[in-house]
Amino acid sequence: MEAAAGGAEPAGGCAGAPEEPVVSLADVLAENEELEKEARAVLGGSDHERCSYSQGAVKRQALYACSTCTPPGEEPAGICLACSYECHGTHKLFELYTKRNFRCDCGNSKFKNLQCKLFPEKGKVNSGNKYNHNFYGLYCVCERPYPDPEDEIPDEMIQCIVCEDWFHGRHLGTVPPESGDFHEMVCQTCMNSCAFLWAYTSQLAVPTVTKVKSLEDEKIVLNVKESEEQKREIKKESGDHPGKIKEEEQVEQFNEPSTSSGSKCPETVLKSDEPVCKLRELQTMQSLKKDTATFWPSNWRSKLCTCKDCLKMYSELDVQFLIDECDTVLAYENKGTSDQETDRRDPLMDTLNSMNRVQQVELICEYNDLKTELTEYLRRFADDGTVVKREDIQQFFEEFQSRKRRRTNRMQYYCS
Ligand SMILES: [Zn+2]
Ligand SMILES: [Zn+2]
Ligand SMILES: [Zn+2]
Ligand SMILES: [Zn+2]
Ligand SMILES: [Zn+2]
Ligand SMILES: [Zn+2]
Repeated sequence: MEAAAGGAEPAGGCAGAPEEPVVSLADVLAENEELEKEARAVLGGSDHERCSYSQGAVKRQALYACSTCTPPGEEPAGICLACSYECHGTHKLFELYTKRNFRCDCGNSKFKNLQCKLFPEKGKVNSGNKYNHNFYGLYCVCERPYPDPEDEIPDEMIQCIVCEDWFHGRHLGTVPPESGDFHEMVCQTCMNSCAFLWAYTSQLAVPTVTKVKSLEDEKIVLNVKESEEQKREIKKESGDHPGKIKEEEQVEQFNEPSTSSGSKCPETVLKSDEPVCKLRELQTMQSLKKDTATFWPSNWRSKLCTCKDCLKMYSELDVQFLIDECDTVLAYENKGTSDQETDRRDPLMDTLNSMNRVQQVELICEYNDLKTELTEYLRRFADDGTVVKREDIQQFFEEFQSRKRRRTNRMQYYCS
């Protein structure tokens, strides 16, 4: 954009050069909308201003770990969204996305040199909190950071709904279904500890293909540097055509309703007054226990048995949340979205219809400038690992306004 100083050339796209690929304002807004929605989904359900400590163990909230205050080697600690802004604004933070049943640690005995500004009178520790290597910025069975500068394989990270760790799609012992085809994932380790889930896979789980490829193989592949071609191929085959697979992969048909008796309605079998345990019934049918992660559709949790024995088992395994649809990240995200949907209208869209073409082009130009500069600005925070605060955004807009004024003066020749 600064090329405007050249004078003779139209500045960027802002003179509306017709040869430039035209991006409609609607496209730009749609993209922005997506990003905004995502941010709102993760943060929306959490309080921006008050430390969540007083709420006790919050059912689900956005969570951060501060490697400035509690670096690897020290005791892990998690802090709430408001504390990440107010108490650790300039610190290096790991974004933990959301975690369940967690109480904010900010300023408690785990912090040697920090007092919480928002809720200083915390107990020493939160004994109910669960920690893992995510609090040191490490993820998956491969114990890598995310993003990983040494990892050149584009791969999606998927969160296990039981342990809430994140996993590379390629480290789950199987090729994950297309992301739109499943809602939740249970990792290999958690499938071992919650082995009862295997009984449900034939009826509920989303089918997968097992890729016979270990961590060791991958290291070799990594050294050889997988070509773009291969990568694309693997992606395509694991996605669009689950039936068509490579030779080194085997189809696991354990999810197909292979026997017609599998679709038996429990009501029709119910003869005595004894409540029927869905799990025990499924366990009498053949089920395939594998060493892989499993993938589940929406609402699968409500189909798990809730008989007395099963409830007891869930509590012994500490996985009572499995029968709670409100525990899902989706439920949390919907809450975040609907909470803010009400006080949210798009003034830009409202005015757009009343504008003529020239005004629209100018608006797009300005919007693109803003987007480029804002992205640049935010990247600096990402690079330093610091959290963006409201003041930072405010400062950005003030600076942007003054830059824009300067630019407008300079460009009057083109734009008016
Ligand atoms: Zn807090
Ligand atoms: Zn800190
Ligand atoms: Zn705090
Ligand atoms: Zn991994
Ligand atoms: Zn897990
Ligand atoms: Zn049961």
